[in-house]
Amino acid sequence: MPKPRVAILGLGIMGGGMASRLLSSGFPVAVYNRNTDKAAAFGSAGAFVASSPREAASRADVMISMDADDIASKSAWFGDDGALAGATRGSVLIESSTLTVSWIKELAAAAGQRGLELLDAPVTGTKPHAASGELLFLVGGSTSALATAQPVLAVLGRETVHLGPTGSGALMKLVNNFLCGVQAASFAEAVSLIAAGGLDRAKAETILTNGAPGSGIVKRVVASAAANDFTPNFHLRLMAKDLGYAIEEAAQRGIALRTARSALTAFKKAIEQGYGDEDFSAVVKAAQQK
Ligand code: NAP
Repeated sequence: MPKPRVAILGLGIMGGGMASRLLSSGFPVAVYNRNTDKAAAFGSAGAFVASSPREAASRADVMISMDADDIASKSAWFGDDGALAGATRGSVLIESSTLTVSWIKELAAAAGQRGLELLDAPVTGTKPHAASGELLFLVGGSTSALATAQPVLAVLGRETVHLGPTGSGALMKLVNNFLCGVQAASFAEAVSLIAAGGLDRAKAETILTNGAPGSGIVKRVVASAAANDFTPNFHLRLMAKDLGYAIEEAAQRGIALRTARSALTAFKKAIEQGYGDEDFSAVVKAAQQK
């Protein structure tokens, strides 16, 4: 069986890693990125560098968008140069960015009007997992579309969980990142209290990371802070976006995510302090500044 042709739309931290993984696994890959300099490097590695999402989609059996937010996703799929205009019947559309459920539903409906199927398949895992095929895909959409996409997802991920109809993956991802954002923000406050109380920070962090509060996310924040290395694996501004989307989704269902609101305030403060393009763990630095 020939490998399916794949288009990757969006070559940021995650999309770039996914495109590299597919290329090194022998898949025919077409790429598109708004900033064309980023795409050129993938041309040297064997990808077809498309001049628009439409052109990339026209050369693909499976296309994956990995863009920043709802606005970026819209620009990848819609319009004369968008991927929907280039996608051929039988191809499968995958939206792997972390987005709102309402946008995913609008996109799936637009795809359906063209006889195309969309999977929402956002991921957990970060930069190294994207590059090494160890993502976890959280999928919403039909079983048949997932079966078509599976040979590609199997190379990009360690596991695929089918959560239900369109939008289920998107909602699960927002729940996931709501909890991640809240834990990172509350840990940042804990560090402020540790410092203000004159405790030894290293000893305190060891106790916390080895104890019940030592979640994967808290451990990541501690590791970044200890190394004083906030090179982004996941941009802080994107964590703020995810908290905002989670708050919006919950509000539509009559639920107030109060802890998410508080965490979002901390991330917004960090953005105001200039940390938006650093790793999300820089929220701990921002909390130390008055
Ligand atoms: P990133 O490095 O910031 O890359 C963002 C991508 O979106 C770039 O290709 C960028 O193009 C494009 N983009 C941004 N605004 C755009 C616009 N208005 N129009 C067109 N393109 C636009 O982000 P990332 O870390 O790869 O994340 C991608 C998605 O995956 C996000 O939804 C994020 O929340 C989610 N995610 C990230 C991680 C992680 O650990 N990094 C993990 C799971 C999920 P340019 O290069 O032209 O700016």
